Amino acid sequence: MQNTATDMVVATTITGVRESVANARAMGSTIGFVPTMGALHKGHLSLVERARKESSFTVMSIFVNPLQFAPTEDLAKYPRPVEDDERMARESGVDLLFRPAVEDMYPGKREVTVAAGEIASEWEGSSRPGHFDGVLTVVAKLFNIVQPDITVFGRKDLQQAALVAAMIHDLNMPVRMIIAPIVREGDGLALSSRNRYLSDDDRRSALSLHSALQEIRRAFARGVTSTVELEQIGRSVLDLTPNVRLDYLAVVSPTSLARNDDVSKTSAAIVAARVGSTRLIDNMTIGGDDEN
Ligand code: AMP
Repeated sequence: MQNTATDMVVATTITGVRESVANARAMGSTIGFVPTMGALHKGHLSLVERARKESSFTVMSIFVNPLQFAPTEDLAKYPRPVEDDERMARESGVDLLFRPAVEDMYPGKREVTVAAGEIASEWEGSSRPGHFDGVLTVVAKLFNIVQPDITVFGRKDLQQAALVAAMIHDLNMPVRMIIAPIVREGDGLALSSRNRYLSDDDRRSALSLHSALQEIRRAFARGVTSTVELEQIGRSVLDLTPNVRLDYLAVVSPTSLARNDDVSKTSAAIVAARVGSTRLIDNMTIGGDDEN
């Protein structure tokens, strides 16, 4: 049973979510869940669309989680377009929007958090210390609050998706995870809430992330299978682009995020760079037949 676009419930409290989900379950619905930090774009909406195909009651959360931001990062200025988000969530067919306050999610001192393991040891994990413990802790809390049957995450955050999958497996969480493809602009730029920070010049330079990943994919299609060589090919694209400061570029396993010598068509090229003052990430399967 799917609600119509107009009767989305907005809950700001944990009790409110539990009540609304219990009502949906009592009506025989299965629960799909899409966690986000808001500043919604078509990437987020593609996750909602997928959740609606796989379940009959779709919950979205919008919560800018302080635990996953380092003190030097953009927590305070992270975009929070509350009204646009609510409208987009409603129009995309979300049944329940959960928008908790920080004090409701984190009242007082924390004794227990989730610790990310080896998958978090490099890339986003080393560039953003503590980030994935913060992500996993909030995702575990949200799973416990919503108790979904399925959850949809984006492949855009590949390392995050691998860690959430590992958490679900290792902690026996009763939820089925779906990892949905990256939604891109027509010119290849991966949609991101942070794209709105980009100036026109930054926006042009930001395309080099996608170009670098595509060059790696083309090189692999030509028969290049050396990790180092593929990485050099990608880096050379970024080296030529003004205003781009590379953080990392690597060819890795999409599940362990480990860099190794057995490159295969499912290996992922991952990249993070600062374009102007905005930090962007992207990735692509090197042997894929689309841009994911
Ligand atoms: P965020 O609001 O950045 O925390 O992202 C919420 C969810 O949306 C995560 O599962 C992201 O991977 C996913 N997401 C963000 N950008 C995209 C995109 N361009 N395509 C698909 N999924 C995305």
